[in-house]
Amino acid sequence: MPELVVENLVKSFGGNAVLEDITFTVADGEFFTLLGPSGCGKSTTLSCVAGLENPDAGTIRVGDRVFFDGRSRTVPPEERNLGLVFQSYALWPHMTIADNLALPLKLRKVPKDRRRELIDDALAKVDMLPLRDRYPHQLSGGQQQRVALARGIVYSPGVLLLDEPLSNLDAKLRDQARSWLKTLQREVGITTVYVTHDQVEAMSLSDRVAVFMDGRMRQVGTPAEIYESPATPEVAGFIGRCN
Ligand code: ADP
Ligand code: MG
Repeated sequence: MPELVVENLVKSFGGNAVLEDITFTVADGEFFTLLGPSGCGKSTTLSCVAGLENPDAGTIRVGDRVFFDGRSRTVPPEERNLGLVFQSYALWPHMTIADNLALPLKLRKVPKDRRRELIDDALAKVDMLPLRDRYPHQLSGGQQQRVALARGIVYSPGVLLLDEPLSNLDAKLRDQARSWLKTLQREVGITTVYVTHDQVEAMSLSDRVAVFMDGRMRQVGTPAEIYESPATPEVAGFIGRCN
């Protein structure tokens, strides 16, 4: 699988600079986290990668496929082959779990017999296969979140983008979800960009973490590097505050 490269991303909303010179590379199979307080530009960065927003400048590519070339969008969102899981996981209430997973496959014109195989495989990976014919309201929040994750990986995306996927869960479920998320990422080996304001989540899940503040990246490193040698007093403060 190819690496994701984001270079010199700049973005303003109505004259307010929201992203200033964001640059990072996520290696094949890496679990890479954007960590920072609310409003620092994490979701905007992810939206630019997904193509839901366009940056004002900068480049975005996965392998040799250029998504944004500094001036314009060169690949539309639906052709980027990304898995998206957001905080509001929004399963379709009138469809069974299996049908919720079938939808992205239908959109990609995967034949019906192959669809079933892919759906059951993805549900098995999140331990939800026995519930495939239930409806979302018959599942707990944690179970729904697993289904949302299965829906994000069912078509084998090149890169998985997760925006605060655990923040709707209560503390106990969040702990459980953290551990199966890490197991899943190891098993599937998928390149992942994870967004969170929760330092414990970031440090326990990630291979590397990028610390965001006020639209800038203050530090990139392994969790140990950031703990042991925070690059600025602000990073130290943020890491410490969350302890
Ligand atoms: P985070 O995900 O780190 O909490 P966001 O990327 O959502 O931060 O937001 C960064 C800043 O950009 C915030 O000040 C937010 O209010 C602003 N912002 C985000 N999206 C929009 C938008 N569509 N229009 C105007 N301002 C926005
Ligand atoms: Mg956000």
